[in-house]
Amino acid sequence: MPDATPVPSGRRAAVIGAGFGGLALAIRLQAAGFSTTVFEKRDRPGGRAYVYEDQGFTFDAGPTVITDPSCLEEVFAAAGRRLEDYVDLIPVSPFYRLLWEDGRSFDYVNDQAALDAQIASFCAEDVEGYRRFLAYSTAVFEQGYVKLGAVPFLNVSAMVKAAPHLMRLQAWRSVYAMVSTFVRDEHLREAFSFHSLLVGGNPFSTSAIYALIHALERKWGVFFARGGTGALVAGMAKLFTDIGGTLRVSTPVDEIVVEAGRATGVKPTGGPVEPFDVVASNADVVHTYRHLLRDTPRGRKQGAKLAGKRHSMSLFVLYFGTNRTWDHLTHHTVLFGPRYRELVAEIFSGPTLPEDFSLYLHAPTVTDPSLAPPGCSTFYALSPVPHLGKAEIDWEVEGPLYAKKILEDLERRLLPGLRDAVVTTRLLTPFGFRDDLNAHHGSAFSIEPILTQSAWFRPHNRDDVIPNLYFAGAGTHPGAGVPGVVGSAKATAGLILADAGIGRP
Ligand SMILES: Cc1cc2nc3c(=O)[nH]c(=O)nc-3n(C[C@H](O)[C@H](O)[C@H](O)COP(=O)(O)OP(=O)(O)OC[C@H]3O[C@@H](n4cnc5c(N)ncnc54)[C@H](O)[C@@H]3O)c2cc1C
Repeated sequence: MPDATPVPSGRRAAVIGAGFGGLALAIRLQAAGFSTTVFEKRDRPGGRAYVYEDQGFTFDAGPTVITDPSCLEEVFAAAGRRLEDYVDLIPVSPFYRLLWEDGRSFDYVNDQAALDAQIASFCAEDVEGYRRFLAYSTAVFEQGYVKLGAVPFLNVSAMVKAAPHLMRLQAWRSVYAMVSTFVRDEHLREAFSFHSLLVGGNPFSTSAIYALIHALERKWGVFFARGGTGALVAGMAKLFTDIGGTLRVSTPVDEIVVEAGRATGVKPTGGPVEPFDVVASNADVVHTYRHLLRDTPRGRKQGAKLAGKRHSMSLFVLYFGTNRTWDHLTHHTVLFGPRYRELVAEIFSGPTLPEDFSLYLHAPTVTDPSLAPPGCSTFYALSPVPHLGKAEIDWEVEGPLYAKKILEDLERRLLPGLRDAVVTTRLLTPFGFRDDLNAHHGSAFSIEPILTQSAWFRPHNRDDVIPNLYFAGAGTHPGAGVPGVVGSAKATAGLILADAGIGRP
């Protein structure tokens, strides 16, 4: 938080949405002296990081791979607190186990010698290629994450300044194309390019800038919050209220009130207008403009523009609890399907649900057995699927059939006896993203992170027309993923404080 001189008393800020971005922004604003209220539609905070509980099983709905703990520590420090007093982050190793249909596997670990040995078992020449890839990824990480990750791109000159660096790093190439210049083996190309999917990017069209995720994971490691990601959300919500913030759950906002060109308040559904000096939206950007600002020319114009942008794919998530455990399971497993390029193309383009799938399997009880009853296991299996604008699928009908296929596949490939052991299931489909989270087309990650929709080309952290309307979350700069949205909150908080006459943007 730049120059956290207290804001003159009486300034009020509204934050719409209690996702990671909304909570991080609200903490920073409250800590800086704004009297801050978070309005959350759902009955608990977290957004995509919602938590479902059933029969003693605890299911984190969304993020499970916590990277860059320093960005979270910074949020706590901005409020004069320590993260470790609120939540315990446990290192996870391997980061992921990758499994292919041909029976090969790769444990992605943070130990160079172990990585080299595994890479050599696929292709000896790729050991050297991987080193060059890591050096590239580290350079992109320094430029794209450390230097620009939390800097708001409000005008084209900021983009022009960054352009030479982006060109030097060949940002116009895709992640997969860039990885392929370094490693030859197809398994390894998949192993080092699939990460952009974790933030909603197609490895074959997302800018190579997103290769930075690899260096980010290597630098800090991969973590899991004890008690689940929900415990991290609960820690942030507690911090916010501990420092005097107001969190109102089950309080959807229906309108951002704009008068004389400025946001003057918010109107919760069924309630009166509540006045604020500053309004920030952590809700979906299309929803914010098209619905919350529907009575303003700016809302109608920008809403239509953003609705026409390319949006990230959606996800199908099957949460399930079993009455047994399996040995030799890792916390995070990626099960690649029979196709990669073709499958990803169908996920991003539709027009139907692909027949095959690649899965990410989350097995949190490997790290924290308290998330299931004794002797039991908690899981989720996630499959990227087309969003509702690309494929008109009736998920009420298709969902249970798809879940059955996934359980069969997991039983065949990894978890023998699975179907007899399942005691509870729950589904999250694109309909859930659309209806519960107000996500345009049911996209899981908002606006797709391609080069022409990144940085200055992404919806800005402050609206261009309404000067006291701000954004934090996946739809603004820098983009999706927990470090991304927490970085967006830092950029936005800096702007709000600068606009209030203190600090630097
Ligand atoms: C299944 C899944 C797995 C993922 N895994 C990872 C991972 O392992 N690691 C990682 O870093 N990232 C992961 N991500 C991405 C990451 O979870 C998201 O990018 C991030 O959590 C989004 O945060 P956000 O701040 O944009 O807010 P969101 O989580 O999108 O929250 C927005 C909030 O706004 C609320 N809202 C909407 N409209 C209104 C309204 N009108 N009034 C009031 N409230 C409203 C919503 O209810 C919601 O709570 C995953 C995402 C998904 C879906």
